[in-house]
Amino acid sequence: MAAALEVSSLSVSYGPVRALHDVSLTVPDGAITAVLGGNGAGKTTLLRAISRTLAFHRGAGTGSIRFGGIALDGLGAARVVAAGVVQVPEGRQVFARMTVADNLRAGALGRRDGRGPGGRRASAAALARVHALFPVLADRAHQRAGLLSGGEQQMLALGRALMAGPRLLLLDEPSLGLAPLMARRIAQTVREINAAGTSVLLVEQNAAIALRLASTAYVLEVGEVALHGPAAELAASDEVRRRYLGVVDEDAANDAVRAEADAPRLRGWTP
Ligand code: ATP
Repeated sequence: MAAALEVSSLSVSYGPVRALHDVSLTVPDGAITAVLGGNGAGKTTLLRAISRTLAFHRGAGTGSIRFGGIALDGLGAARVVAAGVVQVPEGRQVFARMTVADNLRAGALGRRDGRGPGGRRASAAALARVHALFPVLADRAHQRAGLLSGGEQQMLALGRALMAGPRLLLLDEPSLGLAPLMARRIAQTVREINAAGTSVLLVEQNAAIALRLASTAYVLEVGEVALHGPAAELAASDEVRRRYLGVVDEDAANDAVRAEADAPRLRGWTP
């Protein structure tokens, strides 16, 4: 499969703080690629570099980022959206005082097909699709976005990104802070969006969700790629299971418990 997104040797710093070092990854055309890692691993920084929003956070980087053969480095953030690369930031950032409908309208401003009749038709089709995916956004179109529940705000943040007609969605921890049922619902929607032809780069701390959705995954540790490979292989790897899926290595745990139980006897033993 041809690469939709190709990140090569990306390094990023915020002043003296080094956040990413020599990171390379690809998102194949039509695929879901996941990036896993704990707090501060550099996941959000990676998305900021791709969406060209690093400068808003006083960050700067080196390396190359290409999407569909176009070099994104050097473009402004709005041109990246127009090229079809749209980020859904962490933390359900909706315009709280604007209505749901106006939030979605704002998402359409970044469309590459402009505001002529063609663009208006495409926006109307995108709105119909968003309403089909998330009927609640049609039901609550005229309410302020700040009144929606956390899960509904995440739907709105996703819906707003879809209004821009993305070819690649950059998702920053879409399941963060959501109840398990809502997190599964969002994951299912990401699968549907991908099945309709949009490639996805998914950043997640929730490795269980990410590895089920993605075909390929990368593990970031302190700003570097520590592991990468097919998601199914990573999900089966002992290291990933132990560190990211919370699966305990039973033999090692048994040995530790036995050693602890033997300790008083051994401490009291004299030859
Ligand atoms: P989390 O899951 O906690 O959001 P993350 O994997 O997304 O973490 P980043 O937010 O990319 O990690 O942070 C990577 C490193 O860069 C961290 O050491 C963080 O403190 C630092 N960092 C992030 N943003 C800034 C900033 N605007 N200024 C200075 N340092 C920053």
